[in-house]
This record gives sequence, C-alpha cells and structure tokens, in this order.
Amino acid sequence: MGASALRVGGLVPFTANDFPGRFAAVVFVQGCPWRCGYCHNPHLQPRKRGALDWGDVVALLGRRAGLLDGVVFSGGEPTIDPALPDAVAAVRDLGLAVGLHTACIYPRRLEALLPMLDWVGFDIKAPFREYRKITGIDNSGDPARACLDAIIASGVAHECRTTLHPALLGEEEIEELAHTLAAAGVRNYALQAFRAQGCADKSLVAGATVGPAALARIASLFDQFTFRTA
Ligand code: SF4
Repeated sequence: MGASALRVGGLVPFTANDFPGRFAAVVFVQGCPWRCGYCHNPHLQPRKRGALDWGDVVALLGRRAGLLDGVVFSGGEPTIDPALPDAVAAVRDLGLAVGLHTACIYPRRLEALLPMLDWVGFDIKAPFREYRKITGIDNSGDPARACLDAIIASGVAHECRTTLHPALLGEEEIEELAHTLAAAGVRNYALQAFRAQGCADKSLVAGATVGPAALARIASLFDQFTFRTA
C-alpha cells in the first residue's frame, strides 16, 4: 500500500507543542475504533474518506522543510491506517523527524513502526482492567498493555499520558496506574485534566481528580512528570 492511500482527516501546519524539542506539523489520520466519552476529535472517529489528499500534504511539508524539523502523526488513531508506514517513510525522506500520537490500540502495527520513529506520545487511559469504562470497548486494556511494553522495549523516546476525569478515574486508581507505569519502565509521564471543550459527551464535566499530595507522590516515580491543566 502506498502512502497516497493515507486517510488524512486534518493538518496543523505548525506547532511547537506537540513534538518535544521540534517545530512540527501535525497530520491527523482519519479513524478510531474506540469511543472514549472525553474524545476531543469525535469527527475523526469514523473510518471514512480523508478530508485532505496525502500528495497535497507532502507537497506542503516539502515547501516548509526549512521551517519544520518534524511531523507528528496523530488522530483518530494513526496506526489504524495500513498506509501509515509508507507515509512515515515519505516524511523521513524529506529529512524530517517523525513523532506518533497513539492510543495504543494495535500492538503489532505499532511494534513494526517503532524503529522508524523518533518519539512516541501515548495514552494509557486507566488501570488496564478499567479500560472499558473509558473506551466503551471490551478488553481494550489488553492491546494498551501490549503497546506499552513494546514502546518501552524499543527504547524510543516517549511521553505517556493519562487524561483525568472525576467521573471516570479516582485518585486511588490514578496512583495505582502510576505505580504500574513506573514498574513497566515509563520514565516520562503526564497527567492532563479533562477539558469539556470539543467533547461530544456533554454529560462530562471538566475537573481534575488528583490532589497536590498525590501529585507529588506520583511525580516522585518518574524522571520527568508534567501536570497539564485546562
Ligand atoms: S482513543 Fe483517542 S481518538 Fe479514539 S475515541 Fe478515544 S480519545 Fe478519541
């Protein structure tokens, strides 16, 4: 499958925030099989035809190669797309570094892709047995666990993230998850407060669940720890 088949749902031509240490473009891949209530990109969930043509995206990246030093593939879930490895290779051919945002859904595809990546930002949404209440999908913690192990084994630079939501995860569950992640080899961890903006589920109300004492205990488990508020 050639890169031209990549279903591109959107493009941010420049960001300094989504790929650490890089000025990057973000390519949003169309499609995700999970249905998290707090999803900020519900329009990217259907696996439909992309809004943009990959050829146009590559042409734009080529014109901006002097301004950019990286591209992040995000979603949706970018590893859903069989054309992703060819798209990653095309970006590397432009001399740009490649980052990936993934929700850890397809472990075998991710494992094959990791040698081509410079950085991975990945979601671990909850203790693995609790995944269904976030994603709406039975046993969705199993691929997440497998992806976590593959990322750590690869040695690729990473940031692991968990979104906090008071109705979905309590402080004890977050601390338990942080211990699991540290034991698995995560060195760079971020907790991000849920933001209601852009979320299709209007019954979810913004707010964080973790107090300062728990945050300090969690921070002590990792080499790098970030707490992002709305
Ligand atoms: S895994 Fe990510 S893109 Fe998919 S539904 Fe959940 S938050 Fe949205």
